[in-house]
Amino acid sequence: MSKILTYEDACEIIKEHFKFIKPAIREVDILDSVGCLLAEDIISDIDMPSFDNSQMDGYAVKFNENIREWDVIGEISAGKFNDIEIRGCLAVSIMTGAKLPTGADTVIPVENVVIESDRIKLKEGIILKKGSDVRFKGEDKKKGAIAIPSDTLIKTNNIPLIASYGYNKIKVIEPLKIGFFATGNELIDINSIPVTDQIRSSNLYTLSTLIQELEMSPVNFGTVRDDEIQIKDTINKAVEYGIDILITTGGVSVGKYDFLKDVIEDCGFEKIFWKVNVKPGKPLLFCLYKNSGRSILYFGLPGNPVSAFISFTMFIKPFIIEMYNQTPQKKFFAKLENDLIKKDDRKTFVRGTSNFNNSTLNTQHSTFNTQLYTVRDAGGGTQSSGDMSSLSNANCLIVFEEEKYKLFAGEIVECIMI
Ligand code: AMP
Ligand code: MG
Repeated sequence: MSKILTYEDACEIIKEHFKFIKPAIREVDILDSVGCLLAEDIISDIDMPSFDNSQMDGYAVKFNENIREWDVIGEISAGKFNDIEIRGCLAVSIMTGAKLPTGADTVIPVENVVIESDRIKLKEGIILKKGSDVRFKGEDKKKGAIAIPSDTLIKTNNIPLIASYGYNKIKVIEPLKIGFFATGNELIDINSIPVTDQIRSSNLYTLSTLIQELEMSPVNFGTVRDDEIQIKDTINKAVEYGIDILITTGGVSVGKYDFLKDVIEDCGFEKIFWKVNVKPGKPLLFCLYKNSGRSILYFGLPGNPVSAFISFTMFIKPFIIEMYNQTPQKKFFAKLENDLIKKDDRKTFVRGTSNFNNSTLNTQHSTFNTQLYTVRDAGGGTQSSGDMSSLSNANCLIVFEEEKYKLFAGEIVECIMI
């Protein structure tokens, strides 16, 4: 029997396959661009700033180390240029942002001078430096330079440059179209009341919101019965729709009605791996579809709602974040507050509740001091995979490594925020 893939090996394989997906490029309005991945370099179409200008309210002069007094012969304010030639002991009153007149190369802030009607005098002890308080043409960016490189995730702090270079439309990488459906004969709509053995199909909502949280486009193909024909039809429909990733829940274990493993191959997908040595999420099925230069990644997640959530979080989310240069999932170390036990060698992601311990905050050390976090089992020690309440109470996953069978209270453990 071949050894089951480790979490790390599975992630390596998934990461490599993410390179096959090539989402389309589209143009968006600057106002809709925040959160999008840039698909073009933002080029400065002008020198920035485009003229020498004053950084302060004050007086523009031509620097001369022997001069400390000037005659003020006019005024220039932002948007009201007045080209008074400046030389020798002549100065012009200038406002912040206003263009410097011919000859001027230095600005004296108003607070550094004594004003006597139309004369100014440098205050005692003030030493003037050539070029001070002037923003020179092209100082920030020269015309034609790359202001923001392609592949940058656009945030609001990029907008001043994008707007200043006149981009009201921007080319961005489209969010991934992520199709998904749930399988199971027992599943009913969440608006219905379950009778006998029926289960509300919560996974559709879980996946939809997880996808939206990453600012990707969810495409919901609904709930499908454990029926090979129906499953096949839905996969084909999803492929035709033009999705980049397909996710299903349920039907990937070894039960008699777990059809996904076979049906996905019948639909032209290549099986890359099935099963990873993790808990929850062991039966993860990963496949690739390739046709005429187009690729789709397929993730078959277990149907259990907790397993589906954690599988998405640990096997799909990190790679979307990486592809779109989003802020990585927060990983941190915390002091465990209760013992944890496991019975097998699977890498286990335990639902945990972590707290930031304020009492030790007053040390001079950085906030990444491991002692600042504590974490405990969110399920009070009884974490069955079906326990959605412990998932709901959790704010992180505690990583319980393969080779360990017991983690003791007081140990430092690795956690991942959810
Ligand atoms: P499966 O992976 O198909 O064997 O399903 C495992 C468990 O998860 C079963 O108890 C299912 O009833 C439950 N389950 C499967 N799909 C869903 C779903 N979409 N929403 C909620 N629970 C589900
Ligand atoms: Mg099932």
